[in-house]
Amino acid sequence: MTKSTPSPLSAQTAQADHHHAPSAYRELALKSRREIHTLKRLASRLIATCTGKNTAVDQKLTDFRDILYSAQDVSALLPRLAVIERMVSHQDMTQKKAQSHLEEQFHTSGETLQRVIGLPAQLKRDLRELLAKSANSDTERTQHLIRLLQLYERAVTLQATRPRAQHAQIELDKDQIRRVADELQNLITELDIDGQAGSQLLDIRRQLLTDVAPATVVSLTLSALRLILDATQAERQASQQFLAQVNDDLVAISQQNTRAFDHATQLRVAHQSVDQRLDHTITDIEKELGLKGTPESNPEAALTRALDALNAIAKENEALKTRERALEEQLSHNQTQLSTLAEHTMDQRRHVGDQERKRLLDPLTRVYNRAALNDRLEHEFRLWKKYQRPFCLAVIDIDHFKQVNQQFGYEVGDKALKIVARTIYQCLRDTDFIARFGGEEFVILLPDANDDTRTEILATISHTIRKLPLKFKNERVAITVSIGATLFSDQDTPTPVLERADQALYQAKNSGRNQIIWC
Ligand code: GH3
Ligand code: MG
Ligand code: MG
Repeated sequence: MTKSTPSPLSAQTAQADHHHAPSAYRELALKSRREIHTLKRLASRLIATCTGKNTAVDQKLTDFRDILYSAQDVSALLPRLAVIERMVSHQDMTQKKAQSHLEEQFHTSGETLQRVIGLPAQLKRDLRELLAKSANSDTERTQHLIRLLQLYERAVTLQATRPRAQHAQIELDKDQIRRVADELQNLITELDIDGQAGSQLLDIRRQLLTDVAPATVVSLTLSALRLILDATQAERQASQQFLAQVNDDLVAISQQNTRAFDHATQLRVAHQSVDQRLDHTITDIEKELGLKGTPESNPEAALTRALDALNAIAKENEALKTRERALEEQLSHNQTQLSTLAEHTMDQRRHVGDQERKRLLDPLTRVYNRAALNDRLEHEFRLWKKYQRPFCLAVIDIDHFKQVNQQFGYEVGDKALKIVARTIYQCLRDTDFIARFGGEEFVILLPDANDDTRTEILATISHTIRKLPLKFKNERVAITVSIGATLFSDQDTPTPVLERADQALYQAKNSGRNQIIWC
């Protein structure tokens, strides 16, 4: 093949060009129409996709499409395309700005949500993961945004239900803590602990009577518990020590008794042996002196032998007596030890008895406490059920006692409490009962009290307290009481009766105090 020789293919093409020029033109026109058609379709699709982002661009695109479909000369559309292109690129920039703004907002909002206190751990984890993700497309950005909104919705729902509940909880806690303080100071009055722990507890109680902060109540409660625990442990240790001592003493006495018993047995055996030898010696002497059988040829020698034998027995007897005295001493020592032990045991019993009485007495006012009231109330209730005699229960509460404390101090308040307790006690019959129910409140039980009796007792209490000549630095300390009273009736049990008396007291307080209300 040489350079100058035309290729068979190029020769053929040239021939075809020459013969088929009109058909080539047709083909070209056809191709161009197909391309225009494709272009139109593409333009329509693009227009459909772009629509809705900007109304001005929308309008231009719609016009463009209309012209595209109707116009024969596509080149007429070129200026319009230029306008649209400018508008679209401007729109593009605006959209990019909006996107970056949206992205910023997305992160700011996410971080704000992260800072919200009290969100569940799972929600926080989800949020952290979401904020760490990067969005590479509009679709991803939208998904992230939806996710963030969902998390916001969860957080808002939680917060909407929680704040009120938390608030209520705080209120409730304050209330509960106040009740704990009241109950604790009451309990402390029921404990009569000696020594330093006792005075520390009273100090705690005094603080609890004031309006202390909840945090202080908590720490005072802990201190009180520690003191009570230590005191209880000390008491238990003392009891254990006492028991261990009793045990040691008993073991020692028992060992000594065993020794004494052995000693006594040995003595008895020794005595028997001495007795036997004495019998033999006497028989020998009788024989040798010829009192029985054949007389002895040498009575002097026989007598000497008999005397020697008797002397030996007498010596043994002396030794036995010494041993007997030792045994007596041992026994008397044992007796002393037993008596000492009995005394210690009696002391311990008295101590336990004192503790038991103390357990039922209010240490400040020396009247019974709530524990004793419960026992007595149960007892009187049983009697009332059996005999159905009128049984009255009344609650007596000092009026405005807080003010007494505030005006004159707690020491004066304490003194007033003691005097009021004693006054009430003195107004009662022997068969009646008084207990300090707590703080400045007393409960009295008047069993078998007819109408006149109970009315008179309560009126006397109220009147006598009102007239008490209490003074502090020449200033009169005026004290009055409100009384709520009720009778056991029908199917009553102690609890509703106490509640009823309390309601009556509440009415007495609400209708001006210093009065008796029956319910
Ligand atoms: P009301 O007439 O409504 O009964 O008023 P109040 O101030 O007497 O009643 P409140 O229940 O508000 O307060 C009772 C006060 O009693 C609070 C406390 O300071 C005082 N208090 C309780 N126990 C003692 C105590 O053992 N010693 C002293 N000094 N005060 C006590
Ligand atoms: Mg009161
Ligand atoms: Mg009260």
